[in-house]
Amino acid sequence: MVKGTTSFGRRGRGKTHIRCRRCGRHSYNIRKKYCSACGFGRSSRLRRYSWQNKKVNRVRLPLK
Ligand SMILES: [Zn+2]
Repeated sequence: MVKGTTSFGRRGRGKTHIRCRRCGRHSYNIRKKYCSACGFGRSSRLRRYSWQNKKVNRVRLPLK
C-alpha cells in the first residue's frame, strides 16, 4: 500500500473496521459484522489457518 498521494483519496470515508471485542485488534468490520483477524462474529472458534502463524491476545496460536 502506498502511503502518499493516491491513498489520500480514501481518507474521511468512514471506518470499516473498529476494535474487536475478542482479540482487541482493529479488525472488526462494522458492515460485515465480523472480525477479519480472529473471526469474531462469524464463528465461535478463533479464525486460524495452517499457513498462518500469528499471535492473538499476545499468545501464539498453536496448531492442532
Ligand atoms: Zn478479533
